[in-house]
Amino acid sequence: RMITLSALDGAGKSTQVQTVVERLRDYYGIEVVVTREPGGSPVAERLRELVLHGDVIDPVAEMMIFFAARQDHLAQVIRPALQAGRWVVCDRFVDCSWAYQVRGRGLARAEFEALEKMVLRGWRPDLTFLLDIEPVVAAARRRGRGAEADRFERQDLEFFGRVRQGYFERMVADPERFRVIDAAVAPGVVRKEVIAHLDEFVRS
Ligand code: C5P
Repeated sequence: RMITLSALDGAGKSTQVQTVVERLRDYYGIEVVVTREPGGSPVAERLRELVLHGDVIDPVAEMMIFFAARQDHLAQVIRPALQAGRWVVCDRFVDCSWAYQVRGRGLARAEFEALEKMVLRGWRPDLTFLLDIEPVVAAARRRGRGAEADRFERQDLEFFGRVRQGYFERMVADPERFRVIDAAVAPGVVRKEVIAHLDEFVRS
């Protein structure tokens, strides 16, 4: 089965990826492949560098790079792992493309849908955590961590407000798959919420 996590930058997503992985491995003894997007395979990691730190300007080109990376990642890593009976936990996935490229950057919906259809062929992860946080709170956390921002993290609050709406649209379109978690509270509280939903999912 495949589990993905989506959030705004600064929500604490990487920490909760670890929560999910540890719970599956250490508590349930499930074999887990942990991966991320953009990236996750050697080719996709090179495309990640290009799209996050290069000067790709055209929004359609940008979207195609995200999907080219995703296609390679699916072919090289995700599908083989699932076929071998492993679980896959992925830090970001296709919902982020809708949220950032379509809602954030204003790319046409039809272009997104064409690529989604080509690469995913109707397939979806089994469970998606949406770590929800207000853009202003996420921005304060990003400042606190002090790492150098990539070109998406440098966007303004309005941009992240649209991204957040984008996530909600994906959730409304596919409510069974999503678990929305308030990420503005303390990490330990978020962790408990994540584990509670995960336990319910594993046992179902
Ligand atoms: O979560 P992580 O820090 O690895 O994400 C890398 C960057 O890629 C983030 O700044 C995120 O905003 C951006 N991104 C994006 N569109 C996507 C996926 C990620 O702009 N579809």
